[in-house]
Amino acid sequence: MNCVFGVDVGGTTVKIGMFDKDGNKQSVWEIPTRTGDQGIHILPDIAEAISGKLEKEGLDKEDVIGIGIGVPGPVDSTGTVHRAVNLGWGTFNIRETMEGLTGIKTAAGNDANVAALGECWKGGGKGYRDMVMVTLGTGVGGGIIIGGKLVAGADGAGGEIGHLHLEDDEKEACNCGHYGCFEEYASATGVVRIGRRILEKSKKKSVLHGLSELSSKDIFDAAVKGDEVAAEITKRYGYYLGKGLAVVASVLNPEIFVLGGGVSKAGDNLIFLLKPSFKEYCFPGAADVRFALATLGNDAGMYGAAKLVL
Ligand SMILES: [Zn+2]
Repeated sequence: MNCVFGVDVGGTTVKIGMFDKDGNKQSVWEIPTRTGDQGIHILPDIAEAISGKLEKEGLDKEDVIGIGIGVPGPVDSTGTVHRAVNLGWGTFNIRETMEGLTGIKTAAGNDANVAALGECWKGGGKGYRDMVMVTLGTGVGGGIIIGGKLVAGADGAGGEIGHLHLEDDEKEACNCGHYGCFEEYASATGVVRIGRRILEKSKKKSVLHGLSELSSKDIFDAAVKGDEVAAEITKRYGYYLGKGLAVVASVLNPEIFVLGGGVSKAGDNLIFLLKPSFKEYCFPGAADVRFALATLGNDAGMYGAAKLVL
């Protein structure tokens, strides 16, 4: 059989998936990410895990179409990573290094971009060729697929939609050092930031006042149960999400947005909340876009990495 490996490198574990050439999952396992010594053990560990798997399955490297790798850092289209702080990595070519270790064709990409490719291939964006994936987690990640191809950008920073500038008078800095970025409002931390600000001013009763630590889930859950202040927070959240996506749509005119990450657990309600400001700010010629939820969860990176090398 012909198989392909999709590898999702995280800060603590590496998730490895073995797929057939049509993307059917054969097996998945994890190994720890050894980030010590500037991360020099990470790729050799992956190479060893894959060769061990091939041996166990009675296969050799001629049976492998390729290895795709997604990493938490900017990766350009040649496979060069431009620093991945969580892994201790500086700048080097992942593709060449892995091919040297295994003798198997390799491709590499940024993890958020690669997850987008996975959702486009087998998940919420299946069947679409122009898609933007938005991951609403601790930060906001993005991945852009145009004409079925991933847009990595010259320095691997393509699709970083979390850092669109949305607000001029923001006083808290974003992780990138700027002020007023999309992800300061549209991430899970953003839900809490908006929540804190509204709660400070609100004189209305709310279950949220009694919580020692606020989470985006608390806020969305309370809103669903009819808490007025929570509903005001989620409405404000939807305003920012829709506004940011309107900018993206006005530039790229995608067929579909796929929403993933922790906040997307709010489900279709999220799409309902973002639509008013999306319609208000999007260029009318690009406003006829679909919204869908991601379906692959944490497996998206593995699927996308496999697709990257096919
Ligand atoms: Zn930023």
